[in-house]
Amino acid sequence: LAGGDLVVRHGRLFAMAGAVPWRGAERGRLAAVEDGSVAVVAGRVAYAGADQDLPASLRALPTLEAGGRAILPGLVDCHTHVPFAAWRADEYAARLAGATYADQQRGARGGLRGIARSAAQLRAASDEEVLAFSRRRLEETLAAGTTTVELKSGYGGDGAGERRSLRLMAALGSQTPQLTVRTGLFLHARPAGSDRAAWLNEVLGALLPEALSGGELDAVDAFVEEVAFNLDEAAALLTAAQAAGLDTHLHAEQLAPSGAAAWAASHGVTSVDHLDHLDAAGVRALGRGDTVAVLLPGATFLAGRGETPPLDDLLRAGAAVALASDLNPGTSPVASLPEMVALACRAWGMAVDDAVAAVTLNAAAALGRSTEVGSLRPGMRGDLVLLDGDELALLAYRLGPAAVATVVAGGQVVVHEGRLGAPGPKAS
Ligand SMILES: [Zn+2]
Repeated sequence: LAGGDLVVRHGRLFAMAGAVPWRGAERGRLAAVEDGSVAVVAGRVAYAGADQDLPASLRALPTLEAGGRAILPGLVDCHTHVPFAAWRADEYAARLAGATYADQQRGARGGLRGIARSAAQLRAASDEEVLAFSRRRLEETLAAGTTTVELKSGYGGDGAGERRSLRLMAALGSQTPQLTVRTGLFLHARPAGSDRAAWLNEVLGALLPEALSGGELDAVDAFVEEVAFNLDEAAALLTAAQAAGLDTHLHAEQLAPSGAAAWAASHGVTSVDHLDHLDAAGVRALGRGDTVAVLLPGATFLAGRGETPPLDDLLRAGAAVALASDLNPGTSPVASLPEMVALACRAWGMAVDDAVAAVTLNAAAALGRSTEVGSLRPGMRGDLVLLDGDELALLAYRLGPAAVATVVAGGQVVVHEGRLGAPGPKAS
């Protein structure tokens, strides 16, 4: 972490320094320090609390005046499909006209559609083209306040393509001020002409061990659905990854109930994502276990047909709920976490405090990174956002990235009053 030194003073500070994750009896109102400050030294939080108690030595740091506006931890996007190479807006138009996502994924109406099409688009693009397109996507997330972003492979199309995606993810990580977390979504779609068993053998026998020895992975993921892989196949990958110390995720219960979430909750899986068709047994299992329930409002609204994940049931059962963008060209072409907050609050009745915790504290937990990001405590990354006012509700109200004025990553100002890459504050 190439860290900066900075103190942000006189803001309404939401440090989110309570219990992690935000769930069950821990929920309620997020606590604010009305005249708060955050000091960052060498990229790490050195102080977060009342301005009057800011140590004298930290008052000499380069200073950014918050002017009473809300200070939050940098937002954490725990589920994206960057890198990818092109949009698929025509498929969205076809869904608006009556096609279903599952039919498109099966190629039911002919032509290359769904994940296979993104794989072909990725293959047709040069490394430089993919990196330029994907960097632009990461800049969109950054402008909307995301300072930690998960990247997934899964559009590689075959073993060589997946290896290339891992290399591109590493390159992207070195080209953004954001903390990037790398997930191998090796069970997304089987390569053309290969059967699922042969592909699983290649993943377990070659792809995963190579990625582990190269230090290229933080986590693995699998798409459990009738149009993708079954739970036994996913379990084989996740169990092997857990044995190697990786975090694990599942795309689960998006198109139909499968029992994947309940299995995940009893097998130490870090997160289960989507959950539009989660059943009551799955809700109970996530309420008892430590697996984070990641809801993806973008995909629910842009790919679904009116289904709604059982948010209230999950919260009542005590589950830890996170929100993420699912930024991808097929089902959620949206980079802005504030937009996800707005959708969840307006359409699902999520409380603003729960939604803000869902893109900070709980999203960090969904990546296994709660000791590094998602709240502002001494020693954690100096990542924070300044909203364009003092109310958390701005994130639900502005319907997009404009609620976020200024973004600090590792103690460096990377978005200043809505402008990317603006120069940081001068020493005072
Ligand atoms: Zn996804």
